Amino acid sequence: MLQVRTVYAEPEARDSERGRQVLARFPDAEVVEVASHWQIPELHGNAGNVERWVRVKTETLVLGVKKSLSARPNGRSADFIAPSTSNGCAMACAYCYVPRRKGYANPITVFTNIDKITRYLRGHVRRQGLKAEPDQIDPAAWVYDIGENSDCSVDALISENVADLVATFRELPTAKASFATKFVNRDLLGYDPRGRTRIRFSLMPDRDSRLLDIRTSSIGERIAAVDDFVEAGYEVHLNLSPVVLREGWERDWAELLTRLDDELGAAAKAQAAAEVILLTHNRDLHEVNLGWHPKAEDVLWRPELQQAKRSQSGMWNVRYRNDRKREGVRGVQDLIAAHAPWLRVRYAF
Ligand code: SF4
Repeated sequence: MLQVRTVYAEPEARDSERGRQVLARFPDAEVVEVASHWQIPELHGNAGNVERWVRVKTETLVLGVKKSLSARPNGRSADFIAPSTSNGCAMACAYCYVPRRKGYANPITVFTNIDKITRYLRGHVRRQGLKAEPDQIDPAAWVYDIGENSDCSVDALISENVADLVATFRELPTAKASFATKFVNRDLLGYDPRGRTRIRFSLMPDRDSRLLDIRTSSIGERIAAVDDFVEAGYEVHLNLSPVVLREGWERDWAELLTRLDDELGAAAKAQAAAEVILLTHNRDLHEVNLGWHPKAEDVLWRPELQQAKRSQSGMWNVRYRNDRKREGVRGVQDLIAAHAPWLRVRYAF
């Protein structure tokens, strides 16, 4: 996944304990000092990197210090989005919405001030007190998404940040960490989460994943990991996304759900829950993808089924028309009820 040749580092991050640990993992990498992890001319705003995306992701890391810390309310997959300990991703899913501000390649930035971040989180959890009402997110715990802008399973190949987060939440009986992932990193099996970290393995039909999920673990590997992660003390949910409406999608989702029913053990099924999210896309991303992976756009860009909406940041986001979306959401829920009735749906939209 990673053969790091260049690390762009803020001096404070480079000289920190976590920064030195990361650099020790990549002793042959050239370290290039940068004033700010957000201002790296070689990486920023350079759509011309399209053909080199995967090389940039594989060979480049950024080390920075997270300046302002806050936990944003969420209300869907989590109660709060935790301050990120990294952003960017070494994988290259064609539909990925993770911000592409570091140039379209979006290599991983690791934040080295993990102690400050975990201290902030402990204080934030303490200030919430007990969760008064059960909700779809969790019956009792405040859930913090620790991987909104990255994939924690890959981040764990680079630093101990994810291990430190799991250890932090292990000691917080009123809260849980949570992250979605498309990569199976079995090192995480040794982290001893004691039920306070929820992993959401992202799943979609194999046919979609082979076309759209670039550099991820295969769907078969992700399914095979579920029982092992439950056994290791994680809560394991399923992130059924993105649901891509295309010829034959219902047949392929039925096949995936049947496979889950056949292959998951009783313990995994007893604690399972899922979130279902239909595809959203973006006009700029569509244009970029046409330059490197046009086949993906045959299924992602379906103007006859989709409607566009300008986002607050001025981007044109695209989603299925309301009627098609309603049908799609209902269709997936019906398939779950028919083929994997043990799978509680936390939310679907
Ligand atoms: S694994 Fe997640 S963060 Fe990484 S490219 Fe795919 S969708 Fe984006």
